[in-house]
Amino acid sequence: MKPDKYIKNYIDGALQPSDSGEYLDNYNPATGKVYAHLADSATADVQKAVEAAERAFPEWSNCGTRVRYRILSRLADIIEQNLEAFARAESIDTGKPFTMARSVDIPRAQANIRFFATSIIHFASEAHYSENESINFTLRQPLGVVACISPWNLPLYLFTWKIAPALAVGNCVIAKPSELAPMTAYMLGKAAIEAGLPNGVLNILHGSGSKVGQAMIEHPKIQAISFTGGTATGREIARIAAPMFKKLSLKLSGKNANIIFDDCDFDKAILGTLRSSFSNNGQLSLSGSRIFVQAAMYEKFKDDFVKRTQFLKIGDPFSPVTDLGALISLEHMEKILSYIALAEVEGGKILCGGDPIPMKGQYESGYFIRPAIIEGLSPNSRVNQEEIFGPVVTIMPFETETEVIEFANATEYGLAASIWTKDISKATRVVEKLKVGVAWINDWNNRDLRTPFGGLGKSGIGREGGMEALRFFTNAKNVGIKY
Ligand code: NAD
Repeated sequence: MKPDKYIKNYIDGALQPSDSGEYLDNYNPATGKVYAHLADSATADVQKAVEAAERAFPEWSNCGTRVRYRILSRLADIIEQNLEAFARAESIDTGKPFTMARSVDIPRAQANIRFFATSIIHFASEAHYSENESINFTLRQPLGVVACISPWNLPLYLFTWKIAPALAVGNCVIAKPSELAPMTAYMLGKAAIEAGLPNGVLNILHGSGSKVGQAMIEHPKIQAISFTGGTATGREIARIAAPMFKKLSLKLSGKNANIIFDDCDFDKAILGTLRSSFSNNGQLSLSGSRIFVQAAMYEKFKDDFVKRTQFLKIGDPFSPVTDLGALISLEHMEKILSYIALAEVEGGKILCGGDPIPMKGQYESGYFIRPAIIEGLSPNSRVNQEEIFGPVVTIMPFETETEVIEFANATEYGLAASIWTKDISKATRVVEKLKVGVAWINDWNNRDLRTPFGGLGKSGIGREGGMEALRFFTNAKNVGIKY
């Protein structure tokens, strides 16, 4: 399966240009050059997709779980068989290392589809027995036509995580990947044709959020919206969709704490912190961007962490030794650099990195910066309050358990946290008090597909993952039977 130069919409089972025939530029972030074009879709394309989805819904929702299981499993097989091509496309589209796309993004995308293909077979609903009176049972039915909108940082990974449960329970889907990384979603449309997904069951629209994304959320026939992206976009979606009483799942930004107690396993904590700080160039909602280290270990931890960070290899996404590739766009790189400048204004000291890397040859116009560690900032500084979404972390000492809980909770976000200590009682006490949706003890980003996922506050509402996703994409109808 080859990526094409022109990324078309997948509507009613066919690849087609947008109604306007216009295209947007698609950049390769490592070269800074346009390498493909994506359909610039709008309201007319959404209308066409919704009509196709409505036509497909009666049959898809009634064909039975085994039929849906078989077709979705075939789709997962096709991704698995084309691992190299998908991983290559993901790396070119995002600037992330090919090794990461090949070992994380694409295997996870096929695992998402396989997981939900099989989970629908085991999906059971509740029953409530009232003695000598009645039985109530919960009939879970698909919602109809639903929208899935995803961001650029884990393109196929997050796209499939939404689409697969929606389809598995019998909905028809209008999906939109980010305009910054649309290639693998386009390839998924091709794979869906090959897998024999009936026409109109899945429709993939390309284009900008403000045009086609907005038209999707405004469409009255779209019953539910599963969105992953920035808090500002989530707020806009809620503003439009909530008065229309659409079902909403919003997975938004994060500003996560990484808490390191002085009784931790030092090597594991350092390696875990390196991963949580700079995996995917820090462009993960789960990145541990605020690092709190207990005072007795602070200097030792800081020195070692800085040394290891300086050792990371940044550059050619296709080199097997590259740790960090390019950032997603010039605009995003400039935003990250503006936070480095802000850190200095706020009194922070840049311990390493934070500067653009002059590259040679084909990558000379790419978006590469050295990963940065900043110390000396207050937990209330803007750099510690706002999501940067890049290879930039702050490091701060703390004295006591009570103090670090206060520091960690001092943001309006509430997505995730990691705690490093050998004292499991202490770790559990801390976890209980953290205002987050996901916490790890002596680990980071270990994401079992069966577990609930989501945030609090500005990190969003609702839960995805496992059965939570199947519940989100169904209407729970209670049926009471008198006997
Ligand atoms: P974004 O909000 O700019 O865009 C996300 C998606 O929404 C894109 O497909 C975009 O085209 C679309 N969109 C934009 N405006 C829209 C509108 N008005 N109506 C409908 N759709 C619209 O986010 P991004 O820059 O692509 O991604 C980065 C953000 O995503 C970060 O804040 C990150 O923390 C967050 N994120 C969260 C999670 C999570 O699970 N909580 C996971 C990954 C990324």
